Amino acid sequence: MKNALTDSQIRSLKSGLDRRYEQLRAEIEEGLQRAGEARLAEEVRDLEDEAFASVLEDLRIAEVSRDVAEARDIELAVDRLAKGTYGYCAECGQPIALERLRAYPAARRCHHCQERYERERDAPRSSTL
Ligand SMILES: [Zn+2]
Repeated sequence: MKNALTDSQIRSLKSGLDRRYEQLRAEIEEGLQRAGEARLAEEVRDLEDEAFASVLEDLRIAEVSRDVAEARDIELAVDRLAKGTYGYCAECGQPIALERLRAYPAARRCHHCQERYERERDAPRSSTL
């Protein structure tokens, strides 16, 4: 499959991916460190504060796992770049709009498929009438 993007567009998207990846790695490292510190702090805290401390820790962990998921998306995008399948929707196979790739270079789906994906994911599991 021939990629519809030009070499210079790919270079610029790739450098965006690399920058974001470095940023995420730093955030993940910092987040993990803070979660570790929170755990240490929790050990010396009063009983009443314990629940609050663990809520805070959960929030930090949620933040870290979001970053990890995004970093994983970027790794997959870099992999697709290497294979020449980058820039195509994983579901319908159509090229993903350049402005979408610029806004979110790790995008796996075209705008249309992403919207449908989110609708289906967020929809309550009810019977189809
Ligand atoms: Zn699509």
